[in-house]
Amino acid sequence: MFDKILIANRGEIALRVLRACKELGISTVAVHSTADADAMHVRLADESVCIGPPPSKDSYLNIPSLLAACEITGADAVHPGYGFLSENARFAEILAEHNLHFIGPKAEHIRLMGDKIEAKKTAKKLGIPVVPGSDGAVGPEDDAMAIGQAIGFPVLVKAAAGGGGRGMKVAHTADELLMALSTASNEAKSAFGDASVYLEKYLTKPRHIEIQVLGDGRGGAIHLGERDCSLQRRHQKVWEEGPSPVLSAAARAKIGATCAKAMQDMKYLGVGTIEFLYEDGEFYFIEMNTRIQVEHPVTESITDIDLVLEQIRIAAGGDLPVTQDEVAIIGHAIECRINAENPQTFRPSPGKITQFHAPGGLGVRIDSAVYQGYVIPPYYDSLVGKLIVHGKTRGECLMRLRRALDEMVVEGIETTLPLFRALVREPGIIDGDYHIHWLEQYLAGQAAKTKTS
Ligand code: ADP
Repeated sequence: MFDKILIANRGEIALRVLRACKELGISTVAVHSTADADAMHVRLADESVCIGPPPSKDSYLNIPSLLAACEITGADAVHPGYGFLSENARFAEILAEHNLHFIGPKAEHIRLMGDKIEAKKTAKKLGIPVVPGSDGAVGPEDDAMAIGQAIGFPVLVKAAAGGGGRGMKVAHTADELLMALSTASNEAKSAFGDASVYLEKYLTKPRHIEIQVLGDGRGGAIHLGERDCSLQRRHQKVWEEGPSPVLSAAARAKIGATCAKAMQDMKYLGVGTIEFLYEDGEFYFIEMNTRIQVEHPVTESITDIDLVLEQIRIAAGGDLPVTQDEVAIIGHAIECRINAENPQTFRPSPGKITQFHAPGGLGVRIDSAVYQGYVIPPYYDSLVGKLIVHGKTRGECLMRLRRALDEMVVEGIETTLPLFRALVREPGIIDGDYHIHWLEQYLAGQAAKTKTS
C-alpha cells in the first residue's frame, strides 16, 4: 500500500480523496494555489504545499510544481481527482518516470479514451453499441454533405478532443452542416488545441445512462450498475440518479455484462465510466471517462462500495472488492450538484458564505468543502457541494430529498438550491419521465412565465 498520497486537486473531491486516505491510514499531502490557502482540504491534510498563483494553468495544472511537491514531501503516489490532470496521459507517464504512482488507469487507456474518435472505434471493436456516425474525423477533403445525408439529419458535430459539453454543434439540415462544422472545429481548436471533429446522429429524446466499471488491470473487471444523468444544462449534468427510472434489471444486466467484458478484454485498471445515450430501448456509446466522476456517490450509495477507497487499493495492486455476483443494487439514490450561481440566469456568484447549514439525518450525505465564512474564489468551478440522498425506493428518496433541500441553508451568495427545490416537486421528475433536453425546456418555460407575469 502507499505511504503518502499527494492529492492533485481542490474542493470537495480533494476532501473526498483525503477521507479515503485517512480511513486507509495513508498520510496525505494537499496542494493549493494562493487563492486556496484557507481551503478545507488544506486544513485537514497532514501536510500542504502551495503550488502557484490562482490560475489553474499555473497551479493545479502545473506539472513541475506538482513533481516538486512530491519530492519535498516524499509522497509516493498522486490522486488526480476529476478535472485538472485526471485524464492527462502524459502526466501519468511523467509520474511513472519519476517513480511515482498515478492513481488511475494505464496511460495508454487514458490516451485511447481521450480521443473520442479512437474511443468509439475501440468500443465498436469491443462489442459495445455506438451512435451511428462518420467513421472518423471529417476534414475539408471529405464530402461532409454526403456523410451527413447517409447518417440522416439532424446530425451533431463533435470535437474529437471534446469535454465539458464544448465543441458540439447541431445541424438540422444539410444547409446548416458546413457552418456547424466550421464553428465546432474552431471552438475545438481554441478550447483543446485540436480541431478534429466528427459527425454523429443527433438523438432527439434520449436519456444519458452511464455504467460504472471497476477493473484490476489484469483482466478482472466488474460493473456496478448505472447512473441516469439525463437532467442536463448545456450538456452538463445537474441531477444524477441510480438506478435509472427506466431500466429493467434484465436490461441493466445485459449492458453491464457487455461493459464488464470489454473492460476485461482491455485489462482496464481502476474506476471508469462508460457513457451511453439510451433511446427506444437501445444503448449508444458516446464516450468513456477514465477517472472518478463527480456523481460517483450515487453508485456508492446503492452498492455500498467506497469507490475512491477501492480505486486507491486497486492502484496499489489490490484485487477487486467483490465478484459480479456479489454486487447488489440497494434502494435508490439521487445527487444534486449545488452551484454558486443564480438559479435563473446561471451567472456565477462567487463570494463569502455568511450562513451555512448542511442537512443531515438518515440517508443524507453532503460532499462539500465549504464552511461558514468561506469565500468561494472566482477562479474555479462553481460547485458549492453535492447533496446525495438514499432511500429504499425512488419514492422514499424523493421524499427525503425534498426534506433535505428545504433544510439546507447557504447564504451570502446565490445558489441553485431554489432550482432543485422546484425540480423535486415537478411531476415530470417525480414520474422519472425526462430526457436530456427536459431541463432546458423546463427552464425556457419558467423564463417565459416570469416574462409574462
Ligand atoms: P462531453 O465529453 O463534452 O461531456 P459527451 O460526448 O459526453 O461530451 O456528451 C455530453 C452530452 O451531450 C450528452 O450527455 C448528451 O446530452 C449530449 N450528446 C452527446 N452526443 C449526442 C448525440 N449524438 N445526440 C444527442 N445528444 C448528444
